[in-house]
Amino acid sequence: MEDCIFCKIASGELDTDLVYEDERVAAFADQNPQAPVHLLLIPKKHIPSMRKLEEKDYELVGHIYRTANQLAEEQGIAEDGFRVVTNCGDDGGQTVYHLHFHLLGGRRLQWPPG
Ligand code: 5GP
Ligand code: ZN
Repeated sequence: MEDCIFCKIASGELDTDLVYEDERVAAFADQNPQAPVHLLLIPKKHIPSMRKLEEKDYELVGHIYRTANQLAEEQGIAEDGFRVVTNCGDDGGQTVYHLHFHLLGGRRLQWPPG
C-alpha cells in the first residue's frame, strides 16, 4: 500500500525508531502519546482494519498479543496494568487504516472511554 503511513514505517521507508520488530510485526511509539507508555503494534502486512481480518490472519493477531505482553513487561507496566486497544472504523475512532493495537500504560486509565 504505497500511501499507507504504517506500511512505510514497517518497511523502514520512514525513519521511525522501532521498539520491536520481527518478520511479521513492528512496534513503535505513538507520535501523540496518551499515556506515559503508548506504543503501536502493527502487522507488517497491510490489513486495513479489524473488520478486514481474514481467517488466516487470526494466528498473527495472537502473535501481536504475545508481543504486547512481552513489551508490557519490557516497558515496566505489566505488573500495574495496561490496556490494549484497537479502534475500528470511523465511530470506533480509527484514523489510520492499517490495523494497529495501542499498548497504553504507566498511569491509571479511565473507563468508559469517551
Ligand atoms: P487510531 O486513531 O487509528 O486508533 O490511531 C492512530 C494512531 O497513530 C494515533 O494515536 C496517532 O497519534 C498515531 N500516528 C499517526 N501517524 C503516525 C506516525 O506517522 N507516526 C507515529 N509514530 N504515530 C502516528
Ligand atoms: Zn498499511
